[in-house]
Amino acid sequence: MVHIHEFQRLMKQIYFHRDSERGIEGMFYWLVDEVKELEEAVKMQERKAMENEFADVLAWLASLANVANIDLEKAAISKYSGKCPKCKEKPCRCPSLLKKH
Ligand SMILES: [Zn+2]
Repeated sequence: MVHIHEFQRLMKQIYFHRDSERGIEGMFYWLVDEVKELEEAVKMQERKAMENEFADVLAWLASLANVANIDLEKAAISKYSGKCPKCKEKPCRCPSLLKKH
């Protein structure tokens, strides 16, 4: 099993030399493009395409965190430490917002 930290380090080993040239803002727009591709895959309900795009979004998120010098695992676990950060419950009891758009 690969932890988030190890995956982020792997992305650094493979891509950091190129990612660092793109800068944080450049990396952010690459991530946004990948999220849009995930949106298309979700809308088409194509499982294989969704798997592919989920992998790309995670890879670009980890790469963006590398360029921003953020430890993704540390950030995620410190915020989501076993319960909802807003209501402090597990499962979350925050008022539900069913639709974002
Ligand atoms: Zn909550």
